[in-house]
Amino acid sequence: MEERASRPSSQRIGIIGGMSWESTAQYFRLLNIGARERLGGLHSARLLLATVDFAPIVEMQRAGDWASAGEALAAEARALEAGGADFVLIAANTMHRVFDQVADAVSIPVLHLADILADAVRATGLSQVGLLATKYTMELDFYRDRLAAHGVRTLIPDSTDRAVLQQIIFDELCQGLVLDASRERLLEMARSLLAGGAEGIVLGCTELELSIRAEHLAAPLFPTTALHCEAALDRAFGQVSEAP
Ligand code: GLU
Repeated sequence: MEERASRPSSQRIGIIGGMSWESTAQYFRLLNIGARERLGGLHSARLLLATVDFAPIVEMQRAGDWASAGEALAAEARALEAGGADFVLIAANTMHRVFDQVADAVSIPVLHLADILADAVRATGLSQVGLLATKYTMELDFYRDRLAAHGVRTLIPDSTDRAVLQQIIFDELCQGLVLDASRERLLEMARSLLAGGAEGIVLGCTELELSIRAEHLAAPLFPTTALHCEAALDRAFGQVSEAP
């Protein structure tokens, strides 16, 4: 009897966060809300949270030192595995640049955000989306190629808009500043991608959901923090689809 009462109700979700902590706080909240929705009452998510100091990671991104960034995140993944996590989320799109280093460091699954996103896009029957993200996610090939491998093509803003987007993400949203004027600017970028042939818009940076919500745009919206959390909850609470 006692055994039954103390048996965990779900798998333990490991999160590599802090990139930035503003979006990690959203992961924490969405995963707990999702646990309550699934099990009701006082149920909450079983989480292990490993948050890094973001500033040195940003320096490594700027320097293109992805190997060091990958080592740092791999160490966090190992700590999560040792602490009893059943699987791991990298709570940032950009840091999927080092996905392989992280996944190779542990024997538990790491859920790739681009795979989850591609499934969500394809489930709506779309195949070409506009991508709003950091310049790394938009300009390097690790993310867009992974989506393309699933049959999802991406359009990105022009170089002027990409620079503005980078500034809004790092100087504002990652520092807790959610400004109406910047939301308008982001929505302009989204509308111009839609006018250029995008069938929906991907919020491909986990902070963008702090600013943009579905009601702001008359087009399908793919919020990666929410999608990542939903997939993690499905796995943790039993609707497990095998990790790649
Ligand atoms: N959280 C962001 C993302 O989803 C950006 C911060 C970072 O560069 O890791 O890409």
